[in-house]
Order: sequence, then structure tokens, then C-alpha cells
Amino acid sequence: MTIREKKDYPNPGFGKVVREARERKGLTQPELAKVIGTRKGMISLWEREKNFPSDAYLVKLGNVLEIVVPLPDRNAKGRRSLGKENCKLCGKEFPMFHGEQFCSRECAYRHLSENHGRWNKTTGRHIDVQGYVHLHMPDHSGASRAGYVREHRYVMEQVLGRPLGASERIHHKNGNRSDNAPGNLELWTVGKRKDPPGQRQLDLAKDLVLKLSSQDQQELQNWLQDMLAEES
Ligand SMILES: [Zn+2]
Repeated sequence: MTIREKKDYPNPGFGKVVREARERKGLTQPELAKVIGTRKGMISLWEREKNFPSDAYLVKLGNVLEIVVPLPDRNAKGRRSLGKENCKLCGKEFPMFHGEQFCSRECAYRHLSENHGRWNKTTGRHIDVQGYVHLHMPDHSGASRAGYVREHRYVMEQVLGRPLGASERIHHKNGNRSDNAPGNLELWTVGKRKDPPGQRQLDLAKDLVLKLSSQDQQELQNWLQDMLAEES
């Protein structure tokens, strides 16, 4: 195994431990090589950390030199870990096998979704495959478990000055799901299943009016006055 970068070495400090133990035993590099049955040049490579022994040689070195060498972690395919690394996203330490930067698929996926294309790091704005915009607002009462709020709902809440109810839906007038300008959004109410089917229409209308923004209420009032004026 060739080690290109020092930081990838499975067990930094291992070479020094071997050298010191060998010298304590009064063995030269070729003598030690002969005892454990490897080529004489290998000991020099191990001591200079240019190469790391296989598990079989680690066990032999441990026995001959009376040192404890922890065997590196192995993955499911039996591949030996290249050492400990810290996850680029969550910072957790994990055994690294072939240069990976994340402790788990979850961390790799989150990093991907947060750093590629349609994600804006500073605003925490993210557009999903369906075209809806999500904002990273973990403290928002309506946030998903992952900490996201759909932007169109957030914008409508700002317009109304109150949180949206579960039965309220936002319609994009121009059909563009990522166009969340207040003028492009319309508040729709879908029937709550628990509501009695025969609710009085006047009560329903009153409920709806109370949920409108003050601007919409004003518009409704003007419309009513115009209508009444035409009738009289
Ligand atoms: Zn992680």
C-alpha cells in the first residue's frame, strides 16, 4: 500500500514505536525482518511510515517487539481503514477507508443538497425538485423535522400577520412555485375533515373574512359597497 499523504497514514507515530522497540531489543532492521519473515527493506519503510504492515505482520511485530499495535478498522468489504478522519459536516470522528469526507450517507447527502446549485448558503434558501422554495428556519413553529419552512407559506404569514392553519393552502397565481412575491400568492382554505359538512354558509364566510389580510378585507368591503350600490 502506497501512502501519498501523511495524514492518510493509518496509525501516525507507529514508525517511531517500532524503531524504539526494535532498538530496545538490540535488533538491526535486517535482523528484525528476518525474524518476522519479511524483506529487509520493509522495516525501514514501516519505521519511516512510508508503508503500513498487513494485519499478519502487525501481530508478528507485536509479539517480537512486545508492543501493542491496534489493528485498523475494517469496512464491510474487509478493506482496512486509512485512519481516523473528522466528518466535514458534523465533525464526528469516523474510520476513513478511501478518502471519504463524511461519517455517513446522511451527512454526505446533506452536504450535497446544501452546497450544490440550488442552495444559497447565506439565506438558507433551497428549491426542491418540484420547484417549491424551502427556508432553513428550525425555530419556526411550522418547520419540518429537518428544520425547513416552505417559503410561500412563510410569505403569506408575513402578509397576514399570523401563522397559517393546517387547512390553509397557498396558491401560486402564475403557476410558478418558486415565485413567492406576495402578489403572486393566494390564500385558499380546504375543508377540515372534522368540520360538520352542514356548516352555515354565513359562518363560513365570516370565518374566511377574519382570515383575510386587512388589505383584502378592505378590498372586500369596497366590493360589497359597490355591489350594494348597483342593486339599489
Ligand atoms: Zn457526519
